[in-house]
Amino acid sequence: MNKIPKELSKDSNHKNSDRFGIMGGVFDPIHIGHLFTAEEARIRLKLSKVIFVPCLQPSHKRNDFVTDIKHRLEMTYRAIEDNPFFEVSEIEVNRPGPSYTIDTIKEFRKIYGWRTDIFFITGADAFLEIDSWYKKDELLKLCQFVAATRPGYDLDKLHDNFKNVLNIMEIPALAISSTDIRFRVKNNLSIKYIVLDVVKDYIYENRLYL
Ligand code: ATP
Ligand code: MG
Repeated sequence: MNKIPKELSKDSNHKNSDRFGIMGGVFDPIHIGHLFTAEEARIRLKLSKVIFVPCLQPSHKRNDFVTDIKHRLEMTYRAIEDNPFFEVSEIEVNRPGPSYTIDTIKEFRKIYGWRTDIFFITGADAFLEIDSWYKKDELLKLCQFVAATRPGYDLDKLHDNFKNVLNIMEIPALAISSTDIRFRVKNNLSIKYIVLDVVKDYIYENRLYL
């Protein structure tokens, strides 16, 4: 995992993009809910690209087991491969300790400056917990947020203050979660069509989630 993060490499053409999205997640594993959400945000918000940022250590699930980053990262790379507007960043992989979104956005701001619009893309469940995010007041000033509707999570519950900084994106309901996918693998149920085939094959080849 010693690769130089794409954004920091000299030949990166990142400075050309004035508007892009960041999709943070545990991606354990990455599924079509993540991919569809990112693609919808890209098209609707006219983003030049979406950067997927797998976290090293989820800050909100500190006591839960998460799969080794090597596997989560590899699945993420494979899943985005056929979309020229998707990238993976190892910015959190290379930063020890809990992966706080604020640290990541600050790093991106250092690279892209302030003339770029950065949209942090989340699902409704994640944004509804914004109050518990590390340094959330500062974070909310650093980028814009997108929350995609997700079955079971009601964004109307949000305080008006947050509604002002948030782009709510209605998407067709996808009641797909990594938790359910892990459960399915463990219980010998099918995961075809809810993850990409390349991800499904990787999971079986590496005997993940058993
Ligand atoms: P887990 O069940 O392990 O929590 P997850 O499916 O929620 O996994 P995460 O990696 O935790 O996946 O999520 C990364 C981001 O993707 C979060 O902002 C989450 O809200 C969003 N997301 C995940 N699944 C969906 C979905 N089906 N629809 C919309 N957004 C989603
Ligand atoms: Mg989640």
